[in-house]
Amino acid sequence: MGMEACVIEGKMERKLLTLVVPSYNEEEAIPLFYEETLKVEKELENIDIEYLFIDDGSVDDTMKVIKELNARDPRVHYVSFSRNFGKESAIYAGLENAAGDYVAILDADLQDPPSLLPEMLEAVESGEYDCVGTRRVTRKGEPPIRSFFARCFYKLMGKISSSEVVDGARDFQLMNKKVVKAILSMGEYNRFSKGIFGWVGFKKKWLEYENVERAAGETKWSFWKLFVYALDGIVAFSTAPLVIASFLGILFCVIAFIAIIFIVIRTAVFGDPTSGWPSMVCIIMLVSGVQLLCIGILGQYTAKTYLETKRRPLYLVEESILDESKDK
Ligand code: UDP
Ligand code: MG
Repeated sequence: MGMEACVIEGKMERKLLTLVVPSYNEEEAIPLFYEETLKVEKELENIDIEYLFIDDGSVDDTMKVIKELNARDPRVHYVSFSRNFGKESAIYAGLENAAGDYVAILDADLQDPPSLLPEMLEAVESGEYDCVGTRRVTRKGEPPIRSFFARCFYKLMGKISSSEVVDGARDFQLMNKKVVKAILSMGEYNRFSKGIFGWVGFKKKWLEYENVERAAGETKWSFWKLFVYALDGIVAFSTAPLVIASFLGILFCVIAFIAIIFIVIRTAVFGDPTSGWPSMVCIIMLVSGVQLLCIGILGQYTAKTYLETKRRPLYLVEESILDESKDK
């Protein structure tokens, strides 16, 4: 269904679609993923497929599974990292090494249903859109506190971020070369993909789907990891915390000024009984607390700047097999 656009007459030159699959300890999920995409592939006429698995320093048999696939199916390529660099780096490596005219990013655990690919491809091939993003409209199967914090995060980001971050947006995207190039041009070290995808702009279509639970294996994201990721996202795409710090400074100056006037007048009228040191201690604690908080916020930005200035590579490759046409 919906394949007409892919077989538009005159477009006989076959295009290549690269499926970038970040994989970290996904030995169980990858075979399922491959089987599933093979099924979907039958619906994709007039397009060739390249699989590009990014092994993000897995410590299980993920690499073995990928190599077996590569032996069976020469369209399966891979890049293997020297250690775990994180999904953001894996996505970057995938985009950088993809040979395709179109590139789709999918999780290995089938939480990004490959069955959406034909529809996504159709939208991009028609030329109407440069990029198709997906968002899940439900979060069933996820712990409620996690969903709650995720919702709060998206609301907050919506208010303070310099780029559009859509609630429930997945990294599951299909894009054309223009968008790939734009994303690659953002070589920052502190990568927050959801922000980056929004920041680059282009004509984007959104598809919605219900949350799908992991096919096999388990999630790599603990609550704490997600929390840190959220903070990184805020630092990467908003300077609102700095504004809040400055605002707190102004607020406390105003309060102190009013307090000074109050005390001067009170002393003039009632004399100066030596009392009130407990309240003094409380005030000192409060003010120094706020100061530390603001220094902390400033520190976060400075730390990120420090990491950026080192210009370290986003990932290091241990071995890879790529599409030979890539470097021509
Ligand atoms: N992943 C990765 N590097 C990491 C963590 C995760 O490449 O350090 C991959 C993982 O193999 C999966 C995708 O990113 O294909 C999403 O991870 P996961 O399913 O654990 O996250 P969740 O769907 O629970 O948010
Ligand atoms: Mg998942």
